[in-house]
Formats: sequence, structure tokens, C-alpha cells
Amino acid sequence: MKFSELFHTIQGEGQLIGVPSVFFRTSYCNLRCVWCDTPYTSWEPEDRDISVAESVTAIAQYKCKHVVITGGEPFIQSKALRELCGELDKRGHHITIETNATLFAEVAAHLISMSPKLRNSSPPADNRFFKRHERGRIQPDVIRKFLDMYPCQVKFVVDTPEDLGEIQRLEKEIDIPAETILLMPQGTTPAVLQQKQEWLVGLCKENGYRYSPRVHVDIWGDKRGV
Ligand code: SF4
Repeated sequence: MKFSELFHTIQGEGQLIGVPSVFFRTSYCNLRCVWCDTPYTSWEPEDRDISVAESVTAIAQYKCKHVVITGGEPFIQSKALRELCGELDKRGHHITIETNATLFAEVAAHLISMSPKLRNSSPPADNRFFKRHERGRIQPDVIRKFLDMYPCQVKFVVDTPEDLGEIQRLEKEIDIPAETILLMPQGTTPAVLQQKQEWLVGLCKENGYRYSPRVHVDIWGDKRGV
């Protein structure tokens, strides 16, 4: 598989916040978010290779139940992803897959953590990835399929209060249960997150969504591999 990093930390976002977890970060993404916090998997993807067997051995050394497969976009490498998840499942791991929810494949997983990308993610209109990103970023059938088949959370990265209208529209059109929706502030420094959290908590209260901090940013900023 193409991957960029593998490390032991805590889950910093979502329902499993604070849970010690091994993160396996695949490389390559089919989207190009303007604020991507892992550009080394998307805009300038790293190209390291690791086999499924080597990944399982590397993950096993931490003796940690929870494994988070993230990206980039893990479902780009669906064949290897299926094999990896099968092996981890056999060994009793809890598997979360973090995905932009634009590609579907059936794999062994215990939580699908979707993060469909809002309009705030689009690169500038004159960027060569603009059209591809805009066409691809919301795939209602993929989101519905994951919701039907797996325990799910749906995390939206929110930049300004104006993003709320798009989230409400997607909730209605795709029929996303409100209790699966989490709102997270966009930002890669504690100071930026802090500016957004108060009004974001207000939006969560008004709409029955859950607020998710980004604990890894509060602790480490945008440092890699932590
Ligand atoms: S979907 Fe995720 S990895 Fe891909 S460009 Fe957007 S933020 Fe980066």
C-alpha cells in the first residue's frame, strides 16, 4: 500500500476522542481541499510502500486494540484496504476508517468516520483541481450506503457560521441522522480553533449536532506523527 505514516497516539476527534489508537495514514487522495491538514497525502503525496503483512506487524508492536486507518483517502486502495482490515479484524482490533465518503467498498470496520467536504474546502476557481474537487466532493449514494451498512459518524469541518446552511441541506437531502453529525472547527492552530469554538457550540445546540474538539491540534498544533 502507499502510505505516509504509522504512529501510536490518542484519537483526537469524534466519538472515540481520547482513546489510545494506532494511526495508519495511507497516501493519495481524490480530493484537493484548500485547507488540507495532510498535504503530504494529497497535494504532494508521499510514495512509501508497505505490504499488508508489514503493516499488520508494525501495528501489532504497539499492543493497542484501536486502529484508525486514515488518509489521504484510504478507499482509493480498496483491495489492499480490504485485506488489511480483514487481518486486523481477525486479530481482534477495533477498526475505524476515516474517509471523505466519496468512494465505497465493503471492508471489515467497526466505525466509518465520514467527513464529506463542504464548499469551504474548494480550491480557488483557477486551480487545476477545482472542477474535479467540486464534482467529486459530495457523493450522496456513498454516504447513504455507509450509513446503511456500518456504525457511522459524519464529521463536517466548519469554517464560518455560513457553512450551516449547506450542512442542513445535506442532512435533509441525504437523510443523515442528526445524532451522527459532528461539527469540528477548521484550523491547524489552537488559537484559530479557539476563535471558532464558541459560535460552533451554539450551532450544535440549536441543531442537535455534536461538537467535536480537535484535541491533537490543541496539544501538538500541526506537528506530524503525533
Ligand atoms: S479529503 Fe482529506 S486528505 Fe483529501 S484533500 Fe481533503 S482534507 Fe486532505
